[in-house]
This record gives sequence, structure tokens and C-alpha cells, in this order.
Amino acid sequence: MMMKHPLLIKTMLERSRKLFPKKEIFSRCFEKDHRLTYGDMHKRVCRLANVLQSLGAQRGDKIGTFAWNNHRHLELYFAVTCSDMVLHTLNLRLFPEHLIHVINHAADKIIFVDEDLIPLLERVSDQLTTVEKYVILTDKEELPPTRLSPALHYEKLLADAPETFEFPDDVDENSPAGMCYTTATTGLPKGVLYTQRSIYLHSLVQALPDIHCLAEQDVLMPVVPMFHVMAWGLPFSAAWLGTKLVMPGRVLTPDALCKLMEQEKVTISAGVPTIWMSILQHLEAGNKYDLSALRHVAIGGSAASANMIKLLGKFGINVFHAYGMTETSPVVLASRLKSYMKEWGEDRQYALRAKQGLLLPGLDMKIVNNEGNEVAWDGKEMGELCVRGPWIAGAYFDEPERSKENFRDGWLYTNDMVTIDEEGFVLIQDRAKDLIKSGGEWISSVDLENVIMIHPAVAEAAVIAIPDPKWQERPMACVVLKAAEKDKVTEADILAFLEGKVAKWWLPDKVMFIDEIPKTSVGKFNKKALRERFG
Ligand code: ADP
Repeated sequence: MMMKHPLLIKTMLERSRKLFPKKEIFSRCFEKDHRLTYGDMHKRVCRLANVLQSLGAQRGDKIGTFAWNNHRHLELYFAVTCSDMVLHTLNLRLFPEHLIHVINHAADKIIFVDEDLIPLLERVSDQLTTVEKYVILTDKEELPPTRLSPALHYEKLLADAPETFEFPDDVDENSPAGMCYTTATTGLPKGVLYTQRSIYLHSLVQALPDIHCLAEQDVLMPVVPMFHVMAWGLPFSAAWLGTKLVMPGRVLTPDALCKLMEQEKVTISAGVPTIWMSILQHLEAGNKYDLSALRHVAIGGSAASANMIKLLGKFGINVFHAYGMTETSPVVLASRLKSYMKEWGEDRQYALRAKQGLLLPGLDMKIVNNEGNEVAWDGKEMGELCVRGPWIAGAYFDEPERSKENFRDGWLYTNDMVTIDEEGFVLIQDRAKDLIKSGGEWISSVDLENVIMIHPAVAEAAVIAIPDPKWQERPMACVVLKAAEKDKVTEADILAFLEGKVAKWWLPDKVMFIDEIPKTSVGKFNKKALRERFG
């Protein structure tokens, strides 16, 4: 019989301290660059744990963070979770009423806030019912003037605290360690609690060669925000392995990111398609950087098309596609070709790489049709993706009624409509509510968008359903043209381009040219806003 040993985040912190104390963490904060090591980080994490105690935080308390990807946020990731408290990462882009809801609903006790984000919290601070203190993350000697009260200075608190701390050993691996709310495309955001155990397992498994393929020798730049789904758990994976981290801070322009990748010789990065789309356009416009160190980038959060994967490849950016959601820690699927697929034709390979891919080891999945039966593995029959496993939520935090909608018979029903092919590659066809039902048949808005975005004049396209008296619903395309192509392309041009590339009955009834596709707080196409405008 093996030891009954709890799976705790403390183990990864200890490993990085003991084995990789010299390895570097680069962090850009408010345009200032910081370099520290995992050894330095450990000392600061211990100081921070002492600070948390002296501020009155107790085991089980929720500690909010309102911050960019930087070293202080990283220190909070470890000090809070290893102290058996719950790190509640607050999404900077939530509407004020949603922000108020999530802070009060979680009952955050202390909020740590980046200096430049203070105004966003000040707007709502009057309505926060549980927050007792604010700690300001700043490089400045003195605190900026603020209405947040009481407001404390992070660096001063750390400077006055001892640099050793005994993190508790008697933590239950199933106790909550992290917390994130969904971005709520309907209703108020719903909270998901990650446990010590779920973070431990997810961060190890996703480092495997057929997923992020992360190693000590890598230089990892998570562009995906630490304020949403824990930056896909990548900071934890890096600590396990002693991987150098590059934290890009708040300036996420293509130029800033490319320069940083060049300067720090980044080998792996991760982000949503909008980030990589803007980098692609920047490179296509003739801007040059040495990105030769880059091994691959993970794209997820919404679909990366085959065309985008191909075009990024031309600039040496090798994409792998991953899928997940807030409820799943997040990674569930990753699209890596099997060895024998490397012999297949190029188009077939790109088509596979654009799928969301294979289920991660350790998870279970089923894909069920309307009758509740599992669909055939034929790449054609569509059904809803359901998952279960050690890093999949079992319910929303303190929402018994709303939990019943998504969590049934031990499964998470994702609301994502998918197909699965003979090889087990899953393709997300659409979110259930974005599918277009035309005359009893389904049209995938994602597929249609991906074909429209191949048009060389198109910067972005989102497809939504509009009501139709005869067919029930018909597709309408909202298209953003590249700046140099404005007014040069017509609706007829787009439709002519689509002809032959999609079934005739898929052709949009209307093509609307707009200046920008509205985005959600995490940079996804906000189809709800488009439906409200045009639907
Ligand atoms: P929200 O908070 O809006 O639920 P999440 O970040 O949890 O935001 O988003 C999860 C959803 O994003 C999934 O259910 C799926 O619809 C979509 N998604 C995530 N990754 C991909 C991907 N690689 N391709 C297509 N859709 C994706």
C-alpha cells in the first residue's frame, strides 16, 4: 500500500525553491522591468504569508487579487494557496455590477490591487460588504492617493515581515485554493472553486509533451491573464519544473509582446486567438523580430482556424490548439498530431490541428445527442460535450439551483456542441446558443466565420443567427475589414468568395460591415452583444 500523501500546492513551491532557486522570473510592472529568481520569490512568498497572518487573514478566507500578469500576482498565487486560503482572481474587465457581485458573493476579506487599477475598484468600493483591507501593489515609495480604505503598501508590508514561514502541512487536498467566476454571457457570473488537488494534478498533466510540452529549459510567457482561470494554470506548471517565467504586465500590443519574446528568448507562450491574430497582422504588415527561440504557442479560449494556424506558421509561430473552460481548470483537449499523421497531406494536417483535439489523460468524456445517446465517432454526428475528472468542477460555488443546469449525473455538461472523428479528435462546432438552426439543419457559426476570415481583406468576422419566418433562423455575417481595405469590398464580394467553400444554404442572408466586433471581458467575440444589436 502506498502512503496517503495529500496533493498540495506547497509541494511545487518547495520544489522550485530547493531545485531551481537560481532560475529567473522576468516581470514587467507599470513599464518597469523586474528580474528575480525562484529563490527570491520564495522569500517574498514567505514574507507575504506572514503579512497575510498579521492582517488577520485566516485559513479558508478568500483573498481577492485585481492585477495583471506580474511577479507580485505570482507571489499571491503561492502565498495565499499555500497558507490554506483561497485566491480569488478578479477579472479586471467585469462590468461594475458583476464585479460587486463576485466580491460580495465570494466574501473576499482583503483585496490586493495593482496601482493602475485602483480607479476601477474605487468605482465599486462603497458597495463591497466584506472587504476589510486593500493592499496596493506598486513600485512607488509612497501610496498614490486613493479612496480605498484602509489602503496598505505591499512592498512596505513585505519589507517589515520575516522571510521565513512554515506553511501548514495539515491541509486537506480537497480544500479550496483558488477561485474564478465565469465571464457570464448570461446572468450573473458563477463561481468555480479549484482545490489544492485539482490545481496540483492539472498543472502537472498539462505540462506533458503532448500538451504544453513544458520543461526546465523553456522560457514561458503566459499572455493569458492571471485574472481569468489562473492563466490556464501555467504559473503552477512553471513552478513545478523550474521553467523561467516571463510576465508581460499590462501592455499587450503586438509590438510589446514580440519585442519581449525576442528579448527574453521565449520558447512557449499561450493566449486567446485575438492576441495571436493581432500579432499575425502586425507581422504581415512587415514588422520584423527574431522569434527563432519560440517552439510553440498554445491558442485556446475560442477557436483558432486552420488558416490562422497556417499563416502564423509562415512566421515561425507554431500553434497548438487547446480547449477548456472556467469550470475545467481549464485544459480538457489539446490538438497534437499522432506520429503517423505527420505522413498525411498538409491540408489534412491543418484541418486536424484546427480541431480542439484529444482528451487529456486523467479525464473522461462523453458526447451525447438530443436523445441522450452517445454520438458515433464519425466526425459528423453532433452532440454536447460532457466531461468529468479530478480537475473538473462538480458544482458552482453557492449556487445550488444554477448548478443543476450544468452538473448532472456526475458530469459537467459544457453546452459546447461538438463532433468527434475516428481518431478521437474533437471539433467544437459551436456553443449551443450560437448554432444557427436553419430549416431543421444546423449551421456552425464558427465554421462560417473561419471561412470568411480567409478572405484577404477581412480582419475579423462573427456570424450570428437572425430570425427568419420561413427557415426559423438564418446566418448573418458581421465583418470587419482591414484598415487598408475599408470601402473596397462589398457584400457581393464576400458572398462570391464563400461560394464553393461552404454549402449553398450556409451562405449568409446578410453581410454587415462594422468597425469592430464587440469582445467579452476575456477577448472573445461577444455574440450576445451582436444579437442584441442586429438579431
Ligand atoms: P466563460 O467565462 O465565458 O465561460 P470561459 O473562458 O470559461 O469563459 O470559456 C469557455 C468556453 O470557451 C468554452 O465553453 C468554449 O465554448 C469556448 N472555447 C474555449 N476554448 C476553445 C477553443 N479552443 N475553440 C473553440 N471554443 C473554445
